[in-house]
Amino acid sequence: MNLVVFGPPGAGKGTQARMLAEARGLVQLSTGDMLRAAVAAETEIGKQVKEAMETGQLVSDDIVIGLISDRVDEPDCANGFILDGFPRTVAQAEALDALLKGKDKALDAVIEIKVDDELLVGRITGRFTCAKCGEGYHEIFRRPEQDGVCDKCGSTEFTRREDDSEETVRSRLKVYHSQTVPLIDYYSGTSRMRTVDGSQDIADVRRQIEEALNGL
Ligand code: ADP
Ligand code: ADP
Ligand code: ZN
Repeated sequence: MNLVVFGPPGAGKGTQARMLAEARGLVQLSTGDMLRAAVAAETEIGKQVKEAMETGQLVSDDIVIGLISDRVDEPDCANGFILDGFPRTVAQAEALDALLKGKDKALDAVIEIKVDDELLVGRITGRFTCAKCGEGYHEIFRRPEQDGVCDKCGSTEFTRREDDSEETVRSRLKVYHSQTVPLIDYYSGTSRMRTVDGSQDIADVRRQIEEALNGL
């Protein structure tokens, strides 16, 4: 099964994609994670995207399309993948359809996680992540069971994203409305789109997604 998880910054795409990947044996492909790894490793791509990422702008379509096209060819994607944070423009969605067709693959569903802007700033400014295993947490909504210790791997080191400041979040939300929202129309024209209410708690959103997928 190949899926897209789609929604504004802070909607819970990463949180849900990670759980879904684990439960269904799929691979989570986050363009944000791939790009952050490229920036950290100071690769050629990393140098090209650093500024756009810091300021909350999108990086060029060509770069992310290239990353995804190469990644879905890897053997671990054969059983299915979850695209988290890609596509983010209509051009990316068109390129995705074309490249999957060329590889004899298809998208089974696009899950839209819908959340109003007012909730998103708090979601993002409270976000932190385990530095070792990447598990996502939130200061209020998803604290580790034991303070300061990752539930999944026991690590005591956590990171926060530099672009998770209130100021950058506001520009990311503007970018989302102008460049990514048009994708809703793109996918609504197909039978693949399922919308869930992302303002509910994490477990409830998960149930909604499972129901949507079971009903396909
Ligand atoms: P995205 O990948 O869409 O940017 P994340 O999955 O990283 O979003 O979630 C953003 C923050 O909100 C994280 O700190 C996460 O723990 C928290 N979060 C995710 N889903 C929910 C939810 N349904 N209710 C409350 N907080 C949530
Ligand atoms: P979020 O949690 O806000 O959804 P991501 O981790 O998905 O954030 O993305 C972080 C940043 O990486 C974006 O603000 C953008 O600069 C860049 N990025 C990630 N995915 C894409 C994409 N598909 N197209 C263009 N830029 C992207
Ligand atoms: Zn961990």
